[in-house]
Amino acid sequence: MVQAQPLQHVGNGAGKEDQAYFDPSAPPPFKIANIRAAIPKHCWEKNTLRSLSYVLRDVLVVTALVAAAIGFNSWFFWPLYWPAQGTMFWALFVLGHDCGHGSFSNSPLLNSIVGHILHSSILVPYHGWRISHRTHHQNHGHVEKDESWVPLTEKVYKNLDNMTRMMRFTLPFPIFAYPFYLWSRSPGKEGSHFNPYSNLFSPGERRDVLTSTLCWGIMLSVLLYLSLTMGPLFMLKLYGVPYLVISLSHFLYTSHTSVGYLQPTPK
Ligand SMILES: [Zn+2]
Repeated sequence: MVQAQPLQHVGNGAGKEDQAYFDPSAPPPFKIANIRAAIPKHCWEKNTLRSLSYVLRDVLVVTALVAAAIGFNSWFFWPLYWPAQGTMFWALFVLGHDCGHGSFSNSPLLNSIVGHILHSSILVPYHGWRISHRTHHQNHGHVEKDESWVPLTEKVYKNLDNMTRMMRFTLPFPIFAYPFYLWSRSPGKEGSHFNPYSNLFSPGERRDVLTSTLCWGIMLSVLLYLSLTMGPLFMLKLYGVPYLVISLSHFLYTSHTSVGYLQPTPK
């Protein structure tokens, strides 16, 4: 059995001497295999019924919140509804994320079906995001190859067009950064999560990406139809604001979790 290496060089408990010589660009003193070996076996077992129960629970909460919002339709309720439903949208995203990782169940078909339903409901193209998210995990913290959040070099920043610069760096526009990222990736990178021919994907993945883009299009059509029947302002309150809450959460989360880099930032 592989023994985990001591982590004192990276933990907060490191002595002053250790901290003095800590090199943030050095590889960590442990391997992925050490981490895997340290995780108890039962944590690797997937329980489909349990996973589905989480989906049922979250869908019930989302439905109850929607029913309450329609029932009250009051300015007293909306400020309570927005953060609550935004958090529940995030919960749907996380379950779809687990489908994408294959940790939801042992059935790739079930993972794909549930992932499509959950992610399409919050306007995320399931396969497009799943594939680029895999690239993110394979290169997490790499200054150039990470997918989700990449620090800009001075050269890339200076060459940004005004629109991109405003969307990413001028408040309140960064709350739209997530759909912007899905549409055109990070600045300095090419391709789109919606385009099967994007360089994010291999030729064998194009069908999957197209399927997810179609599901996303169906959800968008449903939202447009509901806007016509229920009124665009009502739909903005019911769906748009919670969507912006999850978009902002994505922006803050990826900014926060990707602050450490394996290589020095290039000039
Ligand atoms: Zn992940």
